[in-house]
Amino acid sequence: MILLHNAAQVVTPLTGGDFSVITNGAVVAKEDRIVFVGSTDEALQSFSSAARIDVSGKVLLPGFVDSHTHLIFGGDRCEEFLMRLRGATYQEIAAAGGGIQNTVRATRAASEEELLQNSIHHLQEMLQYGTTTVEIKSGYGLNWESEKKLLHVAQNLRQHTPIEIVTTFLGAHDFPREKSQDEYMAELLEVMLPSVREQKLAGFCDVFCDQGYYSVDQTRKICMRAIELGFRIKLHVDELADVNGAMLAAEVGAVSADHLILANEGGIQKMAQAGVVAVLLPGTSFALRVKQHAPARKMIQAGVRIALATDFNPGTCYSHSMQYVLQLACLLYGITPEEALTAATLNGAAAIDREGLVGSLEIGKQMDCLIFDVPHYGHLFYNLGVNRLETIIKKGKMAWNKNQN
Ligand SMILES: [Zn+2]
Repeated sequence: MILLHNAAQVVTPLTGGDFSVITNGAVVAKEDRIVFVGSTDEALQSFSSAARIDVSGKVLLPGFVDSHTHLIFGGDRCEEFLMRLRGATYQEIAAAGGGIQNTVRATRAASEEELLQNSIHHLQEMLQYGTTTVEIKSGYGLNWESEKKLLHVAQNLRQHTPIEIVTTFLGAHDFPREKSQDEYMAELLEVMLPSVREQKLAGFCDVFCDQGYYSVDQTRKICMRAIELGFRIKLHVDELADVNGAMLAAEVGAVSADHLILANEGGIQKMAQAGVVAVLLPGTSFALRVKQHAPARKMIQAGVRIALATDFNPGTCYSHSMQYVLQLACLLYGITPEEALTAATLNGAAAIDREGLVGSLEIGKQMDCLIFDVPHYGHLFYNLGVNRLETIIKKGKMAWNKNQN
């Protein structure tokens, strides 16, 4: 049993919607589970035999849940990023053979071992910024052989990191250039989806439903087949254009709809009614320098739960840091630090169906705890671009420490 005591603040969202800040707080864990959250005095009295860790002057938070990443890929797209900084648009880069297709070529050419080593490195980076649970999508293979390779890497990664991994099949990330759309649709529906399921390679199915990618009709077909096979649905929608993707996400009962920059009012209402979590990716809109940002405030007012994620990928958001995302979310969307922290933890867990297990410091949940060397959680937002994380406890065990790394 471990007992963290004297915390300047224990900060956590609570199941049901409240946000809790306990000063001079304590958290106690037995093996991998939290058994107490409250005052230091009470903890010391009730758990006198627990191993004590003094966290005086520090802030405790639940581990971040990064609910949207494309972490496994070959190569990088630094060159394209520079092109964009010099004025080219995402669409222009794609038309010139760049964008997703560029990474597809590099990923197909990479060996499984190469992809594994790259991905271990990315997870190590993410851990240092406080991510303790991550969702990883396939999607840079665009044929069964390569998609399978990516999902195998995602499985093998579990032996190389304390971060918990949830996998999503995103075979419908784009269309491969060597086939017609109809041919690829048939392959997705008849070969890839059933095989992913049979081999238990992913629990979620995702589609890039947007202008120039999968249409609403194609997306609906994929979702219907995936649901029939037992997948849960996540969708990329309404990032490049309002294609009524938010509405579709509600219609198919998606766990989350992601991006949503241009989502319309009616779609947002339907998402609220259907309980679809909105995963917002401010790092991407910031890096793409889009003029419009996801309507986070409107969503919250409509009763939609918002989650925040990095969208870590080689093209449009090459950032491992959930802390960066938290800061951007407040500055770009005008949401509060408390809303942002809830979105990066508990609502992130909801976006990957792990709400009962991770995302908050509450009794019965897994002991995934971040210890920040700051006197108040406000410093996470105030101290722009600086990492003040000191220690990570994952499933009750020390997973990372700044001084021993
Ligand atoms: Zn994405």
